[in-house]
Amino acid sequence: MNFVTKDQATVPFKARTQAAVADPKLRKSLAGAMAFLQQKRSAQFPDPVELEALRTLGQHIRQHALSRLPDLLVELEEKLLVLGAQVHWAETAEQANEIVLGIARRRNAHSVIKGKSMASEEMELNHYLEARGITCVESDMGEYIVQIAGEKPSHIVMPAIHKTKADIAGLFHERIADMPYTEDVDALIQAGRRVLRQQFADADIGLSGVNFAAADTGTLWLVENEGNGRLSTSVPPVHVAIMGIEKVVARLEDVVPLSSLLTRSATGQSITTYFNLITGPRRAGEKDGPEELHLVLLDNGRSQAYADDELRETLQCIRCGACMNHCPVYERIGGHAYGTVYPGPIGKIISPHLLGLEETHEMVTASSLCGACGEVCPVRIPIPQLLIRLRNEAKRDPGQEVEHPLRGQGAAFSRGEHLVWRFWRGAFSHPSVYRVFRWAATRLRAFTPRSQLGWTQHRTPLVPAKRSLHDLMKERDKR
Ligand code: SF4
Repeated sequence: MNFVTKDQATVPFKARTQAAVADPKLRKSLAGAMAFLQQKRSAQFPDPVELEALRTLGQHIRQHALSRLPDLLVELEEKLLVLGAQVHWAETAEQANEIVLGIARRRNAHSVIKGKSMASEEMELNHYLEARGITCVESDMGEYIVQIAGEKPSHIVMPAIHKTKADIAGLFHERIADMPYTEDVDALIQAGRRVLRQQFADADIGLSGVNFAAADTGTLWLVENEGNGRLSTSVPPVHVAIMGIEKVVARLEDVVPLSSLLTRSATGQSITTYFNLITGPRRAGEKDGPEELHLVLLDNGRSQAYADDELRETLQCIRCGACMNHCPVYERIGGHAYGTVYPGPIGKIISPHLLGLEETHEMVTASSLCGACGEVCPVRIPIPQLLIRLRNEAKRDPGQEVEHPLRGQGAAFSRGEHLVWRFWRGAFSHPSVYRVFRWAATRLRAFTPRSQLGWTQHRTPLVPAKRSLHDLMKERDKR
């Protein structure tokens, strides 16, 4: 499964990152957008004590929910069934696609209008349905822009963040009938809305994601700013919600602080313009709402993370995107270079479970481990530590037996490198051997090769110092 255009998918990860770094327009767009988002977030949290208290609360709510995940999912299903909804369980993206197709076929549906859903991006649902004759239109403005551009989202909250105003003006002029070229933002939004209004009226199915689901009441909670989420979930006769299994929490009241952390961290808003609480399909006497409500619970590799006590913390994520907005790597390369649905720091820790380390081992190395992501994460996911763990898993001997092997374990394993490190560990743990090694390294430094594989591509060669630190310290102590 790939999440960039077909041409990009064939380009190796490093080449994609190099191309992104060399694109001055992209760098300028991202630098401006990231600075703006960082400033908006920090304005929302003026009191560091309150911020830390909220982060602790968010972390505890998420950890408590994950500790009871299987039970909460069953409870959620039971509540939703009582409310008249239908619940489907999908282990893989393929199964989830088949479920949605089955609903569409049974309803003889030909068109789907979509609110924002990252889970459906994981499934490549648009592509899947369109290949089977069902039209899918994105109704979130950012998603709509990347859809008509034939691209994939480059950010989990702001999918078209890589595009400039001029890019969007040109795109709308080219793709929307009778649309003059204009860089007036209001005019562009109005034009997009005009097109989408008709799509809402014509759609057979409305599809959405889910930000949180409360097991005690069976409530699906969706936040958004455009009203498209509300229209997608209430105008068409069928609403299909797709949710990663980790999004459930125990109680409706748990959602309130999480939602506050989400919107303040994501877009710097104390509350979004719309938030939707969906509890079942339309009931007798109600004026609007769908005739049918379906919830698709998607695993797609999440159980792998869940099975490991340390990696389980990945599933605390509330998809706010703050880690991306503060990541110096994301700021320089943008989202498309990662080639995965989830880019940036969260992408690096979740994608290995969705796609396997064989496809993602390079991206887990694309971090300076500066720690900014972990510091801003509203639910305190220790992202740098998880990255180090995933790097170790990618380098682990594939033949080694472990309790919970990860898909693609050992994808970056090299027997030669493994032997070098074993030698180094042996030398380092025996002082006499280390002394000989040190003596030899300082005396033979003139023979150090100047070209050292990938290291010297962008850095000066590693050459042992004339005098070792031990020697210098001994000398100083004598004085
Ligand atoms: S890892 Fe943390 S900061 Fe990043 S998207 Fe998830 S919740 Fe937000």
